[in-house]
Amino acid sequence: MIRYKITLTPLSPFLIGGHQVLDNHYETLDYIPAPNLQAAIARRILESHGGYDVQQQARDGQKRYFIDPDLIGVEGCEEKWIPWFQHFSQLRFTDATPFGAEHFTASTFGCKLDREHEETDFLVAFYVTRHHRKGRLNMACSCGERLERRSGWKWPQGTRMFKRTVTRVALDDRRHVSADGQLFSLQIGEPYADAERTPLLFVGYLLVPESVEKEMNFSIHDEVVRIGKHITVGLGKMNLEVERVETDAFPEARIARWQTLSGDTSVPLLINGTLPLAVAPIEGRNMTISTRTARHTQSG
Ligand SMILES: [Zn+2]
Repeated sequence: MIRYKITLTPLSPFLIGGHQVLDNHYETLDYIPAPNLQAAIARRILESHGGYDVQQQARDGQKRYFIDPDLIGVEGCEEKWIPWFQHFSQLRFTDATPFGAEHFTASTFGCKLDREHEETDFLVAFYVTRHHRKGRLNMACSCGERLERRSGWKWPQGTRMFKRTVTRVALDDRRHVSADGQLFSLQIGEPYADAERTPLLFVGYLLVPESVEKEMNFSIHDEVVRIGKHITVGLGKMNLEVERVETDAFPEARIARWQTLSGDTSVPLLINGTLPLAVAPIEGRNMTISTRTARHTQSG
């Protein structure tokens, strides 16, 4: 697969996913799921396609954006979208996360007292103490305080998601007046990531099969797509950039480091690349397989 980096810069507040928290309250997600990203791009391609009639393709009043080159031809497609249009079903998208951040692994712990203290990934330590049944693990922060599990995205230092609640009243379709029980609130995301209003970015990847990529270029610059719900009232406008990047090499260095620390030839399936690893002392080379560690690792 050839990788293209997809960068989305929100130009307005957004409501991604339209997740219903309770009754009439909806809250945005803090990332763009791959299917939402794929749907937004399909919509962008078809809305600018001269041969696609949105009204004619609608079913039961719902607009539909299915790219089917057998149904409509390439004539009428904007030039820069032609490779996308012709091969859309073969393209794979990843989730677009804040600044391309990874999720904390389930074995990552941080200080209970001070969130500024460095997080540590304990996977190798758990593995060694359980798998080799040796050593005792000291689960404490370097400051001596207790640890708690970390979850969510590894946002870059000083950045976070800003949300704002807006309340709206839905109009009765027939009488065009507001009615009881039609009040709803939306918790929408803001297009910046800190108090200095540094722009928020969502970063994901497009994966294109080698056979398709040979004669095609999927780069896109200065394009605007609409992502999420309520885009008709001005939410979800995002700038789109797509550029080719070198494919990540096989993570040999990460695996070699794991094998040095764990003392055997296992291969971790889930490990943070950048965090320091806590290690319990290895006193033996007992290779008994435990089902608990087998869930996190794979023998190699
Ligand atoms: Zn601490």
